Amino acid sequence: MKTYDVAVIGSGPGGYVAAIRCAQLGLKTAIIEKYPTLGGTCLNVGCIPSKALLDSSHHYHDAVNHFEKHGIDIKEVKVNFEQMIARKDEVVTQTSSGINFLMDKNKIDLFQGVGSFKDATHINIANAEGNTETLEAKHTIIATGSKPATLPFIKLDKKRVITSTEALSLKEIPKHLIVIGGGVIGLELGSVYKRLGADVSVIEYMPKIIPTMDEMLSKELQKSLKKQGIKFYTGHKVTAVNTSVKEVTVTVDDKKGNPIEFKGDYCLVSVGRTPYTNGLALENAGVKVSERGQIETDNHLQTSTSNIYAIGDVVKGAMLAHKAEEEGTMVAELIVGQKPHIDYNLIPGVVYTWPEVAAVGKTETQLKEAGIDYKVGSFPMRALGRARASMDIEGQVKVLADANTDEILGVHMIGARAADMIAEVVVAMEFRASSEDLARISHAHPTFTEAIKEACLAVDGRSIHS
Ligand SMILES: Cc1cc2nc3c(=O)[nH]c(=O)nc-3n(C[C@H](O)[C@H](O)[C@H](O)COP(=O)(O)OP(=O)(O)OC[C@H]3O[C@@H](n4cnc5c(N)ncnc54)[C@H](O)[C@@H]3O)c2cc1C
Repeated sequence: MKTYDVAVIGSGPGGYVAAIRCAQLGLKTAIIEKYPTLGGTCLNVGCIPSKALLDSSHHYHDAVNHFEKHGIDIKEVKVNFEQMIARKDEVVTQTSSGINFLMDKNKIDLFQGVGSFKDATHINIANAEGNTETLEAKHTIIATGSKPATLPFIKLDKKRVITSTEALSLKEIPKHLIVIGGGVIGLELGSVYKRLGADVSVIEYMPKIIPTMDEMLSKELQKSLKKQGIKFYTGHKVTAVNTSVKEVTVTVDDKKGNPIEFKGDYCLVSVGRTPYTNGLALENAGVKVSERGQIETDNHLQTSTSNIYAIGDVVKGAMLAHKAEEEGTMVAELIVGQKPHIDYNLIPGVVYTWPEVAAVGKTETQLKEAGIDYKVGSFPMRALGRARASMDIEGQVKVLADANTDEILGVHMIGARAADMIAEVVVAMEFRASSEDLARISHAHPTFTEAIKEACLAVDGRSIHS
């Protein structure tokens, strides 16, 4: 039997990063993955393919809607959807094989198959051919991720009633895509198909879209996407989803409780994701799971069994690739006795629509609930030279700073390139910067990042350009 210092179950961004960090720290490491390709949800059916399609559809949308204004005349712009999907698949294959390279480079042994606990130090791996082998591991890191959630009365047939996984590999552009859930995944994939010509209706139970983000972002994003033609039905409750061969009927109670029907050719169910622990036989290792299906851990991500850790989507917290990665690094370092730390308040959240949405730290609602006095500084993108040059004038940056100390407590931005710009603020907040600190730092001109400087100046009522 092969023996290891660490076995990692799951090769998503949590698992593969944990494995690499363990190997870097001199631990003999194995990684177990049940799918034929490495990279988990993120690389195969999540972050990477969705961004590939967002980028392709963005180019198309720009060509149709903006090129003429830029003085570029092209005769006929057409979508070759098959090629768009093929390019996305290529990006996924390249990225995933990059993980195989990294496993080899770091001398991590890969076991292909479903990992399940025999006991706290032994893991059975059942491969697709029906063979089982067992390895011994001093420590195990569970990184088995999550799967799409649904509503109890919805049957996902994966043909007409689909999850994000199928939405990333459709054979045709929907005529009318009904999206259940106005969260990040529903809005990103809704945007892809709207740009490609579909009618898109988003039905959201809560009174606003991206409900956990700052109110300003919900409002501004809904306004922008509405302008692009997406129809929103917030405060609407889905009660039934029925399918025929080519049609889906979604029955909904409107804000007054009156039933209405939506008919479309596809219905994307994007109501969140649930932790995935099927097949792990956690009971054999004494690992406890919460009522919500998450593996229970302490602040050091240690489970109820002391040599077993869990990270990423399968434990509490934001279901984000970069959160999973940080946890993977932290656990590897804890195993060798180091004292790493993650500030969960500073894990940024991004929506890759256009305009992009990005945020870090506290929302205004959270600050009010906590009784913290704060000052607000906002700056509209349209006041930036760079934004006008590229015709990306929608959005704003909002900075929330402590009323007494001026420390930045939260930043919420919507606009072109917000996904990349948020990094500046995360760094600043890691170093507990004040809005004055950022306001005094030179920002290259003309760039979108000047909106951050200006919003920080606005905290003190001295924005220059608005
Ligand atoms: C459409 C979509 C878009 C997204 N976009 C973003 C984004 O832009 N940015 C972002 O930060 N996050 C995004 N996410 C979320 C992100 O994909 C997840 O947060 C991230 O993948 C979680 O990483 P993980 O390592 O915890 O688990 P996963 O990536 O889910 O990986 C878990 C792996 O474990 C394997 N596994 C499970 N059980 C077993 C077992 N018993 N034995 C062996 N292997 C097993 C699975 O096959 C899988 O490969 C997106 C998700 C979706 C669905």
